Amino acid sequence: MSLVETRIAQVRERISMACVRVGRSPAEVRVLAVSKTVPAEIVREAVGLVEALGENRVQEAMAKRPLVGGALPWHLVGPLQRNKARHALDTFEVIESVDRVEIADRLEQLLTGGARALPVFIEVNIGAEPQKSGVSIDDLALLSRHIVERCPHMQLRGLMAIPPYDPDPEHSRPYFARLSLLARELANELAIPRLELSMGMSDDFEVAVEEGATWVRLGRALFGARQER
Ligand SMILES: *Cc1c(COP(=O)(O)O)cnc(C)c1O
Repeated sequence: MSLVETRIAQVRERISMACVRVGRSPAEVRVLAVSKTVPAEIVREAVGLVEALGENRVQEAMAKRPLVGGALPWHLVGPLQRNKARHALDTFEVIESVDRVEIADRLEQLLTGGARALPVFIEVNIGAEPQKSGVSIDDLALLSRHIVERCPHMQLRGLMAIPPYDPDPEHSRPYFARLSLLARELANELAIPRLELSMGMSDDFEVAVEEGATWVRLGRALFGARQER
C-alpha cells in the first residue's frame, strides 16, 4: 500500500466513526482530495480511492490535470475571477466557489448554447471575515435564487464554507452547524430536495461530518504537510 492509500484508509475510518457517533451512513460522505502544491505523480495515487480531486487555483489545475489522468471529476474550491471563468469551465466539472451574481452570470453566459448543466456550490463567508471570499449570509438567499431562476445552465448542488481558522476543531462546530441549517432552510425555500454540504478540512473534518458534511475537502490528511509555494 502506498502512503497516500494508507492515509485515505485512515481518513475513511475516522469518517465512519464520526458517522456512527451521530447515526449517519458513511456512504453519505464523499472525499475531495485537494491537491494544491502536490506533484501530479503523488496525486495520481489518490485516483480511484477518492470521489473527486480539488484545486484552489485554475492555472495549477490546468497544468496538473493532464499529468494526473484518471476519470474522476475535478472541483474548483478557490476563488474564481471573471477573466479565469472560461479556463475554469474547461478544467473543472464542478465549481464550489460561486460567491456573487457577477460570477454566476459570467459562467451562465459561457455555458449558454452548450448542453451542459454545470453543478455549482455557493461559497458562504460563514464567519463574516472581511478578508475571505464567499457570499455573506445576508446575500445568500438572493444569490441562490438568482442561480436557480436565472442560470438554466447551472445546477445548484450545495453550499461550501471555510470557518475562521482555529486549531481547536470544536471551535469550528458552530459554523458547520450554521451552514447545515442554512442549507436546510434554503432547500426548503427553493423547493429543492436537498443541498450538499462541502465543509471540513484536515484539522476539523470529523466535526464537519458530525454536523452533516456530505463532502470533506482534504489536503494534508491525504498528502502530508504542504511545501510553501
Ligand atoms: C487547501 C484547501 C483545503 C484542504 O486543506 P487541508 O487543511 O490541507 O485539508 C480545503 N479547502 C480549500 C478551499 C482549500 O484551499
